[in-house]
Amino acid sequence: MSFSSDFSPRFTSKYDRIWQYLRDQGAPDFRYRQVMQAIFRDRIGRFSQMVVLPERLRRGLASHLDDDVVDLTRVAMRQSEQAEKVLYGLPDGKRVEAVALKFQAGWESFCISSQSGCGFGCSFCATGRVGLLRNMTADEITDQLLDFHLNGRVIDSVSFMGMGEALSNVHTFDAIRLMTRPDLFALSPRRITVSTIGIVPQMDRLAREFPQVNLTLSLHSPFDEQRSAMMPINRRYPIAELMQALDRHVRTTGRKAYIAYVLIRGVNDSDEHARALAQLVTARFRQGQLLHVSLIRFNEVATAPEAFARIGKAGAWRFGEILNRHKVKATVRASFGNDIDAACGQLFANYALKADQPP
Ligand code: SF4
Repeated sequence: MSFSSDFSPRFTSKYDRIWQYLRDQGAPDFRYRQVMQAIFRDRIGRFSQMVVLPERLRRGLASHLDDDVVDLTRVAMRQSEQAEKVLYGLPDGKRVEAVALKFQAGWESFCISSQSGCGFGCSFCATGRVGLLRNMTADEITDQLLDFHLNGRVIDSVSFMGMGEALSNVHTFDAIRLMTRPDLFALSPRRITVSTIGIVPQMDRLAREFPQVNLTLSLHSPFDEQRSAMMPINRRYPIAELMQALDRHVRTTGRKAYIAYVLIRGVNDSDEHARALAQLVTARFRQGQLLHVSLIRFNEVATAPEAFARIGKAGAWRFGEILNRHKVKATVRASFGNDIDAACGQLFANYALKADQPP
């Protein structure tokens, strides 16, 4: 298990490199704006096709940075009516995945990765079984969105719920900066959600630097002993510390925080679990009013131990009702794309298992 340092030293994005190149060529400032408009307004993904630029600059950018603006390559895709899942190859051949979800109201939400693999070893998670291959750079993280954008999708909201633990990768903070920059993705921070297993110092940092970004804590058990068995990080940051961190988050940001709870049949779905979870939330007193529990039905994967099974809808509703009875706001999250293994980590894990080659 490793933690990155707080600061990413001298971060330079590809957009900074474009700006620097144009400057080195003596191009006027409006050329940079033209490139950004070509990418983000006109959805042009190759420098050689940006005819608004003089040929000299088009060629120069293509040879200086590579002609494709996106550095990721699509390796595999699976699609259902509401979900599209893409397996990407990073420039060094490692794999990550992203999922686009289309809601009936027309809203499009994107679940992206922050690491290739993951080193935190949660027992129910397919990605955890792969181990950490490496952190993604901020450009690679945002390239997932850029690729969807260039393919005509509208980026309404983004969640860091793909592969990896977003808050253990220092580049996540740089990526959020790129996503919210007005000349680039121009996403409102309120449309971004960071999901974490509970890296407390980085939860505090997120609240300080991006108070409007939504935070979801993956709890999955109200009992320390069980949570430590399911999620080894709990030994470092036990539940009491996590709840205090949520209190601080609510106090610092003045915004609601979310608790994600994956319901696994016969493991953490008992009435006793529901009551203990309700107690944890209501014990926050005033802050408790700004905590919301999202219940997610576990999605079986080839790589999860056989003991982990999906709970039925009725079981999830019953669990939610117990929370509601204790005045805890809870909803059962709609599950999308089980037919395409759209739960985070699964396409990659299955690919890694099936493909007879290293990821
Ligand atoms: Fe890593 Fe998240 Fe999976 Fe845990 S649940 S192993 S932190 S990807």
